[in-house]
Amino acid sequence: MKGTINILQYSGIPVRLHWSFGLIFLWVFYVGQHWNMGIEGMLWIGSLVIALFLCVILHEFGHALTAKHFGVKTKDIILSPIGGVARLESLPQKPIQEFYIAAAGPLVNLGIAVALYPIILIVSPSHWTLSTLLKLGPEANPALIFIPSLIVLNLGLALFNLVPAFPLDGGRIFRALLSIRMGKFRATKTATIVGQGFAILLALVGLYLGNFFTIAISLFLYFSARQEMQYVQVQKILTSFTVKDIYRSHFKKIYAQDPMQLAITESQKGVERSFLVFNLADEIIGVLHEEFVLEAIKEKAPERLTIDYLSPKFEYIDPADSLKTILEKMQKEGYSILPIRSEGKLLGVLDRNGLYNFIELQRKIR
Ligand SMILES: [Zn+2]
Repeated sequence: MKGTINILQYSGIPVRLHWSFGLIFLWVFYVGQHWNMGIEGMLWIGSLVIALFLCVILHEFGHALTAKHFGVKTKDIILSPIGGVARLESLPQKPIQEFYIAAAGPLVNLGIAVALYPIILIVSPSHWTLSTLLKLGPEANPALIFIPSLIVLNLGLALFNLVPAFPLDGGRIFRALLSIRMGKFRATKTATIVGQGFAILLALVGLYLGNFFTIAISLFLYFSARQEMQYVQVQKILTSFTVKDIYRSHFKKIYAQDPMQLAITESQKGVERSFLVFNLADEIIGVLHEEFVLEAIKEKAPERLTIDYLSPKFEYIDPADSLKTILEKMQKEGYSILPIRSEGKLLGVLDRNGLYNFIELQRKIR
């Protein structure tokens, strides 16, 4: 992801820090100045922020490692000032698996809170009350309230994440439970509406308090909920249709010895952008991706032969393949066009633009 740096890696999952994370330390400095804390106070607040984000990382690993247990890979974990996100490569198949994956995060924070509790009993049993914590001002001794603050923050993290509003963990738990009864699509729709309602409420609270941080979180929640809805929508389209529903049986045949001009002229008509390339025995020997045609235009080399540009990498697909399989193949292998074959006969082609247009169209008519 853009604007991030790798800070660590565990179990094959990289943790990346977003540049805006640096803003937190500006905030610490601002608060420190505001409260006349001095360098020592600021260092304590800074270490508390770092400790809190370590807990956020553990929370995300709670999700990621549980997902791994169910065979779902995690692309990475991204940390920004408003929290962390474990980006799973796909959704787990069974609702109960999503339930466990979602619940694992808040459980980690509850676990941390419980594990830290004995420390304050040993170190400062009499000093800690909730009111000392809430008065985290210049008069509080930061060293004394470091662990209690961390406990309260972890409890807060667990509780906030359990709010049943998508895309918070509570919303995912809510969706998983709904999915068992109404299927993933309708469950996501319901959870998204509840989530966006919560985000709007939170934004109003933020505006009322004049708290920028709350407003930022509400915006993040609102758009993440929408994004998840779109993702589930696209997944549904992709699994409901197969190659035979959308392939083209008419397509321009380009031969290896043809000049690039042929593909250029064809692509300028606007329908076909990528092409299959044949030899004189009418066998496919490669493909001409859209990028290669553009390259030939830029190089002003329309007379050069197609064979100089083609990529020999391609594979045949079956009319019964689901669009989900095809899209994954295109994204993973970088294919922009695929030939369709059934019982040894070439039936037609499916290209990237055709697939994207089809998804767009289906989304509009739903
Ligand atoms: Zn979480």
